Amino acid sequence: MAFRLFNTLSGKIEEFRPLVDNQVRMYACGPTVYDYGHIGNFRTFIAVDILHRFLRQSGYNLRHVMNITDVDDKIIRNAAQAGVPLKQFTAKYEDAFLEDAGALNIEQAKLVHATDHIPEMAEFIANLAEKGFAYRTDDGSYYFRIAKFPEYGKLSKKDFAGMEDGARVDVDEYEKDSARDFALWKAPKPGETSWDSRIGRGRPGWHIECSVMSMEELGESFDLHAGGEDLIFPHHENEIAQSESATGKPFVRFWFHARFLLVEGEKMSKSLGNFYTLRDLVLKGHKPSSIRYLLSSVPYRHQLNFTFGGLQQAAASVERLRNFRLRLQTTNFPAGSNLSLMTLANETSARVREALSEDLNTAQAQAALFDMVRVANAAIDAGEMKQADTSPLLSTLDQFDEIFAVLNDDDIAKMQRIADWAKSEGREKDISPELHEALRSNALSDDQVNEKVEQMNAARTAKNFSTSDAIRAELTANGILIEQTKEGVRWRRK
Ligand code: AMP
Ligand code: ZN
Repeated sequence: MAFRLFNTLSGKIEEFRPLVDNQVRMYACGPTVYDYGHIGNFRTFIAVDILHRFLRQSGYNLRHVMNITDVDDKIIRNAAQAGVPLKQFTAKYEDAFLEDAGALNIEQAKLVHATDHIPEMAEFIANLAEKGFAYRTDDGSYYFRIAKFPEYGKLSKKDFAGMEDGARVDVDEYEKDSARDFALWKAPKPGETSWDSRIGRGRPGWHIECSVMSMEELGESFDLHAGGEDLIFPHHENEIAQSESATGKPFVRFWFHARFLLVEGEKMSKSLGNFYTLRDLVLKGHKPSSIRYLLSSVPYRHQLNFTFGGLQQAAASVERLRNFRLRLQTTNFPAGSNLSLMTLANETSARVREALSEDLNTAQAQAALFDMVRVANAAIDAGEMKQADTSPLLSTLDQFDEIFAVLNDDDIAKMQRIADWAKSEGREKDISPELHEALRSNALSDDQVNEKVEQMNAARTAKNFSTSDAIRAELTANGILIEQTKEGVRWRRK
């Protein structure tokens, strides 16, 4: 089945095909490590992760590279405020980012760091200057001359025909509607970190790192380049200008942009102060799997409004899927098979794939799976499920989870790590009663719970009701819910 994907460059949904054989080369703009990432950032990284996982599931050989921006205006400012050397400052937030990405089950790309590629960037800028695409100013900074690149604006679809030739900007992020010659290299300022290079002492601007590192890792033309919608202009427009001026070749085939996570209609962002980090939400007692599920529940090309109601619904959805899987795994069904359930499983697999093949329609994929769960649960209740039916249903769940990655119940261990982090940062008071409760309920391992459930059953069979009641009370106190079903006793965590 063809994979159709929206391409910001063409403004259309196109059939995705790699440039070379079965090999997909993808670059995603990574975090600027100057603080903890908020869940808006992670919405974008999860959208890229869904793309990554879908390409892998489709059988492509994927090479996925992501940069860590470890030098820029904000980093320099915050490191100075913290009174910490740049590297030490960025290492802390890079580690935090990777831990959070891990908690959200985001598959790791190959990481490349801006500060490890300063000589290559200087070389690249020198080359642009030789070709007349860049110029040096009196203070020793270098700027890209956008008047030399007539296609400037082709990604963002902006018309810069009347732009002022030679107007310059040296901040990394700038106004959406003005086209300016942008800084490739910034002359040193007192107190700022800088490097010696073949074009003099200074530090790179933000845009150059992505052109240089992506082409170094993936070649001059590659398949996919991803980021959040705010990167379309100026960041990605500038990357195209730098790269195509240097090589004379098309830089990237498909541009993939995830739309924003909003809070009450506004972009979730550091500067507006309306943000939650993953850690904030976990400290309130929310599970990483609920957060991942919520962030993937609206297709990436629609903005998603964050609400706590939505988060609770996501938690309930994950819980329903996990319970369904547990039910399939633990119930003793009668021998035989029921053709209609096997068909249901196969059709659902196809529907999930079709939904994702159409520009990664995650909402439709989730809806297809929930239809299956509803019908299959009803079949179990009606005694129609047979032994041989569980395996196709479980493999449909697995196929879904290769993309959505929420079924594995390892939330509590991740939440425990975040609680430990809060303690180590002297923020114990931020651990909510809900998180305390969730952690307490996990005091028993699965094996321990199973053992206690067996003891409880044995006591009951022996009509030793005071013992069975006591075991049940202990389990309840540990957050374990016991359910009597037609098939016997089942348990789950609260
Ligand atoms: P930064 O660390 O600021 O460079 O951002 C990392 C990624 O998060 C970039 O791809 C941004 O486009 C993206 N991003 C920032 N804010 C949001 C938001 N509210 N919703 C979705 N993505 C965002
Ligand atoms: Zn970038």
